[in-house]
Amino acid sequence: MIILHGEYSISLVILSVVISCCAAYTALSMNQRIQQNSFFHKSFWLLMSSVAMGLGIWSMHFVGMSAFMLPVNMNYDLSLTVISVFPAVFASYLASYFAGRPSFSHWSKAVAGLIMGLGISSMHYIGMAAMKMEASFKYRPWIFLTSVVIAVGVSYAALFVFSALQKYMGDHLIKLLTSILMGLAITSMHYTGMSAVVFYTETPLRTHLHQMNQMDITLLTTVVVIGVSLLLLISGLTSLLDRYVEHRLHFFDALTLLPNQRQLEQDLNSVKSARSLAIVHIHNVEKWISMHGYTFGDMIIKAIGEVIQSMKPASSQIYRIEENRFAVVEAHDSGETLKKTMERTLAHFKKPLPIENHRLAIEMVCSLSHTSSNDNRELLSNAMAVLQHPLTRYNHEIIEYNPEIHTYSYERQIVQDIGKAISEHELFLVYQPQVDSKSLKAAGVEALLRWLHPRFGPISPGVFIPILEENGKIFDVTDWVIEEVCRQISKWRQESFAVGHVSINIPGAYVTSSRLLKLIHDNLSAYRIETRYIELEITETSVIEDIENAITAIARFRELGLSVALDDFGTGLSSLSYLKQMPISTIKIDKSFVDGVPVSEKDSAVLDAIITLCYSLNLNVVIEGVETAGQMEFINSMKEAPLIQGYYFSRPLKSGELVAWYAERGPEPAR
Ligand code: C2E
Ligand code: MG
Ligand code: MG
Repeated sequence: MIILHGEYSISLVILSVVISCCAAYTALSMNQRIQQNSFFHKSFWLLMSSVAMGLGIWSMHFVGMSAFMLPVNMNYDLSLTVISVFPAVFASYLASYFAGRPSFSHWSKAVAGLIMGLGISSMHYIGMAAMKMEASFKYRPWIFLTSVVIAVGVSYAALFVFSALQKYMGDHLIKLLTSILMGLAITSMHYTGMSAVVFYTETPLRTHLHQMNQMDITLLTTVVVIGVSLLLLISGLTSLLDRYVEHRLHFFDALTLLPNQRQLEQDLNSVKSARSLAIVHIHNVEKWISMHGYTFGDMIIKAIGEVIQSMKPASSQIYRIEENRFAVVEAHDSGETLKKTMERTLAHFKKPLPIENHRLAIEMVCSLSHTSSNDNRELLSNAMAVLQHPLTRYNHEIIEYNPEIHTYSYERQIVQDIGKAISEHELFLVYQPQVDSKSLKAAGVEALLRWLHPRFGPISPGVFIPILEENGKIFDVTDWVIEEVCRQISKWRQESFAVGHVSINIPGAYVTSSRLLKLIHDNLSAYRIETRYIELEITETSVIEDIENAITAIARFRELGLSVALDDFGTGLSSLSYLKQMPISTIKIDKSFVDGVPVSEKDSAVLDAIITLCYSLNLNVVIEGVETAGQMEFINSMKEAPLIQGYYFSRPLKSGELVAWYAERGPEPAR
């Protein structure tokens, strides 16, 4: 028996390693697409990734075999060779499947590693069985086993690295590292497997012992190369197609197939030469949809889009930018051509639009804006401002942007209207009782502002007060509130209605102003009201901005005999040390501290602690936003008796309603 010793062609060995790493990289890239939303179904990418990996393992094997030289003639069996690709593809599929599961636990990693390793090994040994030569061979069992263990171990390591380091490394780097590991798993298995083989012959060799032969695998290599190239081509093309579909979905409207608002925005930002923009707004499409359904609505939009498209100048581009809006951008003209075409287009729609058996009277308007500067963004905002203007009607008009008319905004309107609101009596006050939690009698009220706007209806103070504050309009309103409260107290006194104290909310910036002190003083004397009837509420956030001056101002109010309450306590970033420094008389604990009581033990403990703290600092306490009997029960279980302001007792009431409410329960004797 003659033992035959093989040799390797180093360059082909290196090529085999490179092939397996490349295959692993391609497979991982496709595998990543499984996690992303894509036009192709996840299983498509799973299949592509397994075919890439399987083919990679397979080609590596045959390149590795062609690197091997023996002093005998070698060949292979075609059918076994083809069969050997299947375990590789199948194992890759299963491993990718496990790797892609949402919870990729240690167990699934172990199972995936085992499957992958066994797949690589079976491919190899089936490939070996396909070898035909003048010599025989047998395996050394221990090395054979080692090669399988290596394949499983390194596959597991690759999957582990892939999942564990993904968070810490750049995507490319981790993919590269995993691919190299995976490539090494395949090649190390192969070459360990090869060293497990003992080639021998019992008949004398026809060739010389040192005359090495390589396997003739020209045909096989050709097939492998064509196969792998085809695979790469298909995966490249599908990736491109996938990206193209994504682009179409993102930048085009599915119904009209026109570019959409994202494309418009991109074009406005990039096309320097855009000059004019028209937006056609179709009114009341919902009406047709509710009568005839969505498909009918789609037909209307499509038909209108087609008309605009056919009538627009050739040099302009049409977009569908919202459900019921089309845009036309003209790049080369001063706007006159676009204006004329849009006039013709809208005139066309004055005639009924035939859709199925109906003839619809479509209501629409078209806004037009031009720019001579390079800032195309204002084109869009100006055209939109025209559409948002409250006076814009849908009677087939072309309305050109006019900076004097179309600077409409809700905020601006509020600021503009507030002066008139005072003189036209649109503002009024409501009063919310503050009730003693033990005696259940009212100790006073908080005055809360209301605005019944002629066009917007009732506006919440939570909305309009911040706007007025920002625009420096809150001082006049506060002056009005102070005078209105004094007038009301004086009127109540004439009617012998003992309301107790009335709290007035003072906005942050006004607290430190000397005008406020004087105004309060003047009103109190004019209406002959004692200072103990008035409480000022200031919020902690506003006070903290200018703590030194706030402390001085509060001290002056207290000297005058007014109570001062810190409103919304706990909502700002207040430090407890301010509480000690500020000469306030009352703390109003914010609603958010009461909401969880008594269900949440933590919230209940916090509320309890705050109340105890306030009493130990000798402060009066008002709890805001008490709504339920459960909250009341918890408050009553404490030994202190804070005042309660909340819907549990009463919502804010108009003056007449308040008098009736008091009549039912009677006031608390003065504090
Ligand atoms: P605020 O001073 O903390 O007033 C308490 C707010 O809580 C009032 O809302 C009141 O209606 C509401 N509230 C009272 N009890 C409950 C309850 O049990 N449940 C719930 N969900 N809410 C309750 P409103 O009247 O909407 O006032 C909101 C804010 O607007 C006031 O908060 C105050 O910061 C400001 N504001 C109201 N009137 C004036 C005013 O005349 N001048 C100034 N500067 N601000 C005012
Ligand atoms: Mg308040
Ligand atoms: Mg409050």
